[in-house]
Amino acid sequence: MSKKSKIILSIIGVVASVAFLVITAILAEEAMISASLAVVLTVIAIILIFIAISFAAKVDYETGVYECRNCGYTFKPTFKAYFFGMHTITTRRLKCLECGKSTWCKRRSVEKGE
Ligand SMILES: [Zn+2]
Repeated sequence: MSKKSKIILSIIGVVASVAFLVITAILAEEAMISASLAVVLTVIAIILIFIAISFAAKVDYETGVYECRNCGYTFKPTFKAYFFGMHTITTRRLKCLECGKSTWCKRRSVEKGE
């Protein structure tokens, strides 16, 4: 699978699972489904959202490297550092592998495809 289709798939996954949760909430609110079915569907929806977000995070991790603000060194953080690091859309707080300083590293896409 190409990098682009993985990104698109992960976005669809998140959107579809959130839509599933919203539809379940509406059906339950309108009493169109039983309370027990609503609970089951809500649990399934939350599991799907969790899987979709994990997949999206994995794709984002695999396709990005980060540039240190202090020394300019570009590196790939460990998945743990990536996952738990505070972040914005384009930056993530990571400890540089070269100089050891924690800075708001700028995200760069890995150019090589599959
Ligand atoms: Zn550095």
